[in-house]
Parts: sequence; C-alpha cells; structure tokens
Amino acid sequence: MYYILIGLPGAGKGTQAANLVEKYQIPHISTGDMFRAALKNKTPLGLEAKKYMDRGELVPDEVTIGIVRERLQEDDCKKGFLLDGFPRTIPQAEALDEILDSLGLTLDGVISIEVPEEELIKRLTGRRVCKNCGATFHVLYNPPEKEGVCDNCGGELIQREDDKEETIKNRLDVNREKTQVLKDYYSKAGLLKEVDGTGDFDEVFNRICQVIEGK
Ligand SMILES: [Zn+2]
Repeated sequence: MYYILIGLPGAGKGTQAANLVEKYQIPHISTGDMFRAALKNKTPLGLEAKKYMDRGELVPDEVTIGIVRERLQEDDCKKGFLLDGFPRTIPQAEALDEILDSLGLTLDGVISIEVPEEELIKRLTGRRVCKNCGATFHVLYNPPEKEGVCDNCGGELIQREDDKEETIKNRLDVNREKTQVLKDYYSKAGLLKEVDGTGDFDEVFNRICQVIEGK
C-alpha cells in the first residue's frame, strides 16, 4: 500500500500518520526524517542539502527529490509507505510519479484530512505558555486547572505571537493554496481521497482506515 497523507497545520496529520504506519506496518516517510537520516549518514545528497540549510535557504527541489529517490529505493519500501510532507509542489509530484514508475510502484491514493478553517483556528490558537517556567497548555486539549494560571508554578499563561489568530490565518492561507494545487493534481489522476478530519482522533483514524481498506 502506497499512500500520501496531506492536511493543513492542525489537521492532525502527524498523529494519524504515526498510528497508521504502526497499524499497517509500513515505513513513515517524512521529509524531515529523510533529511536528518541523509545528514547523519553523510550521503552526497545529504551534504548538499546541508549547505543550503546551513545558510538558512530552502533546499532546492532537485536535492530533495534525490533524497526521496534514495529513500524509496530501500528495501522496507517494497511493501508500502506513507509519504508525509512530500510532495509539496507540482514539480515534486511529477518527480515522484517518475520515481515510482522507475521502481515499478503504483500510488494507491492521496489521503487529505479535511478540517474546516474555523476548527483549525480553534485548534491552532489554543496554546498557552507559562511566562515563568515555559510549561505549555492548550485551552481545549490540555487546559490548566485555573484559566490563565500555570499549574506548575502559578505563573501567568500567555499566547505566543506565533499562536495568535492573525499569524495562524496567514499560515493557513499560504498552506491552503499550496495544498489545493496538489489536491487538484491528484484529483485529476483519480487518486484524491478526502477524509473528514473533524471529531476525535479515533473517529478520524477509522475513517482513514476505511478508505485504505476500500470499505
Ligand atoms: Zn509555570
């Protein structure tokens, strides 16, 4: 089973991915992990990527694609994979098609976890941080006993700039545009499978499993 998992920030992609790869015993292939492995093993492409990262620049597509190609050739990918964070662009998606072709593999689907904007904003703006000890809370998922007060030290809980609605909205806008382009690409290929990402973790997980198992 060869799948790509996509979803906007706050859609729960990371936790769903971790549980899916455990259930189906397939490798979780995320760009972050691939870069870290390539750097650790000092592969030529890893070293090339490092040059850009050290300068704080985006790693060019050709390097990223090369790293993905190397990873997908490894033995553990013969029974499947869950790609997460790649592809991000159409050139990357086209390159992935080529890589899979050359390896004789076929993509089964692209699962998009769909969560309404309002819900994403609620999830993403809920984080609170203790000014004093740095402990983090979430107004929905991990609320402090007393609103605005740190359970650990009694310090004041604040909302970081990064978690403010305005910042979150901008981040979502940028991501939505990029994600939509990919969704269109895979929709045309008949591979896009949209899954309702609202509700609790298990509900969403079951919906994704049903898609994978063709129910
Ligand atoms: Zn504290």
